[in-house]
Amino acid sequence: MLPTRQGSIRLFRLWGIDVHLHWLWFVAGIYLVSQRVPQYEAPFWALFEYLGLFSIVLLHEFGHALACRSVGGDAHQIILWPLGGVAYVNPPARPGATLWSIAAGPLVNVALIPILLGAAVALDGTGWAEGRPDLARFIRALQDTNLVILIFNLLPIYPLDGGQILRSLLWFFMGKARSLMVASVLGLIGGAALAVWAVRAQSIWMGMMILFLLSNCWAGFKYAQVIRKIERLPRRDGFACPVCRTVPPLGAFWRCQQCQQPFDMFETSAVCPHCATINAATLCPHCGESRPIQAWDARVHDI
Ligand SMILES: [Zn+2]
Ligand SMILES: [Zn+2]
Ligand SMILES: [Zn+2]
Repeated sequence: MLPTRQGSIRLFRLWGIDVHLHWLWFVAGIYLVSQRVPQYEAPFWALFEYLGLFSIVLLHEFGHALACRSVGGDAHQIILWPLGGVAYVNPPARPGATLWSIAAGPLVNVALIPILLGAAVALDGTGWAEGRPDLARFIRALQDTNLVILIFNLLPIYPLDGGQILRSLLWFFMGKARSLMVASVLGLIGGAALAVWAVRAQSIWMGMMILFLLSNCWAGFKYAQVIRKIERLPRRDGFACPVCRTVPPLGAFWRCQQCQQPFDMFETSAVCPHCATINAATLCPHCGESRPIQAWDARVHDI
């Protein structure tokens, strides 16, 4: 159960980031607007409120995407799907870069708090809100929406932002695999606690959300086991990843770009023993970056 572009339309492209919107946002929009119309004297304010929710979610996702880019990662896509917003970010595999890419989303909501508060105070101070109760109600609704999004995302349940922030912090002193393992186990516990609450609240949306969280936690846990296995393999001395400086594992863990057969890049200097193709780049199993084999050579060459 992963968010996909299926059922979404592309809204626009900004700074090379495609923004997709799932059709259920329109259904939810009609529902939310119809719920909120009675709160206002002029019904179009309910529509503004929905657009406000959309904008806050979008700003949060752009926070992730732009922060990820600022540390040299990839981010090309944002999807507003039924369970919220998702920014597809691929930061470099370092705890600091990951922490910044994740924390930037909630930080956008933190920055919105004084902005929305300032707007409310300014409206009061200038007397603009007088005779315009809808405007004051609208600002208050935005403040509430922003706070709910912030608090929910900060729950320490992987893969919510809070859980991923916790994971990045643990990564500094526990390493890549163990930090993910701890965060995903805590996420499974937190998800189970949320499930109890969702059953009590009889919320279908929460139920779907929890299923999504739990399946991602489980995938995270399985992935952590794979990384740990790789981390424990014997190492090939004399080589190191030019990006993250990790020494590569010893064994046939790479696939030939031509014939797809597995072989050990470092034993044959990236020449495939099956089809003799010289592989242009060697993938680092630790950080996911690909570089030519020559760049991996960490031995000192004396003449
Ligand atoms: Zn987020
Ligand atoms: Zn080959
Ligand atoms: Zn690397």
